[in-house]
Amino acid sequence: MAKFLTTLETSARIEKIIKEAKIELTLITPYLKLTKIFLNRLKEADSRNIKIRLIYGKEELKPEEMDHLKELDNLQLYFCEDLHAKCYFNEELMVITSLNLHEYSQSHNREMGVSIKREVDGVLYSDAVKEIDSILKSSINKTIKKTVSLRGRITGYYEGKAYFEFATGQNQWIPESAICSQYEFPPDYEMQDFEIETWAIKYGFCINCSNEILLCYDRPLCKGCYYQLGMEEDYGGKEFKYCHRCGTNYSSFLGKPFCQECWQETRYS
Ligand SMILES: [Zn+2]
Ligand SMILES: [Zn+2]
Repeated sequence: MAKFLTTLETSARIEKIIKEAKIELTLITPYLKLTKIFLNRLKEADSRNIKIRLIYGKEELKPEEMDHLKELDNLQLYFCEDLHAKCYFNEELMVITSLNLHEYSQSHNREMGVSIKREVDGVLYSDAVKEIDSILKSSINKTIKKTVSLRGRITGYYEGKAYFEFATGQNQWIPESAICSQYEFPPDYEMQDFEIETWAIKYGFCINCSNEILLCYDRPLCKGCYYQLGMEEDYGGKEFKYCHRCGTNYSSFLGKPFCQECWQETRYS
C-alpha cells in the first residue's frame, strides 16, 4: 500500500531512492538547488554507473547548479517549461510529492508526499511512469555533452552499436550515437583516437591490482598485469583478488571475474 510522508520523511525517502538505485534513477523537479547531501548521493549513484534522468522546468538552472551537474557522467538532462509535477523514482521505489529538490523547500516549506513500491502498487507505479514518458516527450533535451578520448578501432556493427577494440585490450559495444569522431567502415584496422560520450563507456576494475579499467568480461586485467601475468606458466587457473565490475574483494578468476552480486545484476542486461 502507498504510504503518506511528511516533509522530512519525503526528503529521507528521496535520499533512499537515489542511494538504492541499481540501474536507473529519474528525478522530476521544476526547481532545482541541490543540498550537499543530495549532490553527494547523486555523485555516488553516478560512480555506480546508474543512468540518471533529471527533468526540471520553469526557468533555466543557475550556473552553479549547472556546474554541479556537469560532474555527473551518466546524467541525461531535460527541460519542460510547463512542468509542475514532482516525482522521484528508481526501478523499485517512487515518491510523488509537492517537494522540489530545492534546498529552500526542504528546510522551510510544509510539504507532503506519497511513497509507492512497484512490487506492491504496480499499476499506480506504471501509470506514473507512463505519464513521465509523456512529459519527457514534450521536454527539450539539455544533456551536457561530455566526451572522453579513447584509442581503438571499430571491427563490427550490430543494431546501431559499434564493436570497439580498445588499445588497452578491452572491447565494448558502443552506441553509434555516442561516437563523436569521424570514422569509416569497413575499418582499416588502424587504431585511432575516438571521442566518445562518457555515458556510453563502462568502467570496471583490474581483478589483479584493482586499478580502474574499461569493463570487459573477457579481459578483466589492466595492460600492466596482463603482460606481467603472461610470463607466468598457468595464470589461467590463477585466483585473483577483486571483482572486475565493482572492485570489492572477491576471489575471481579469468572467465569468472564478477562477484555473485554483480553476476546477478548483469545476467539479463
Ligand atoms: Zn592490474
Ligand atoms: Zn562485484
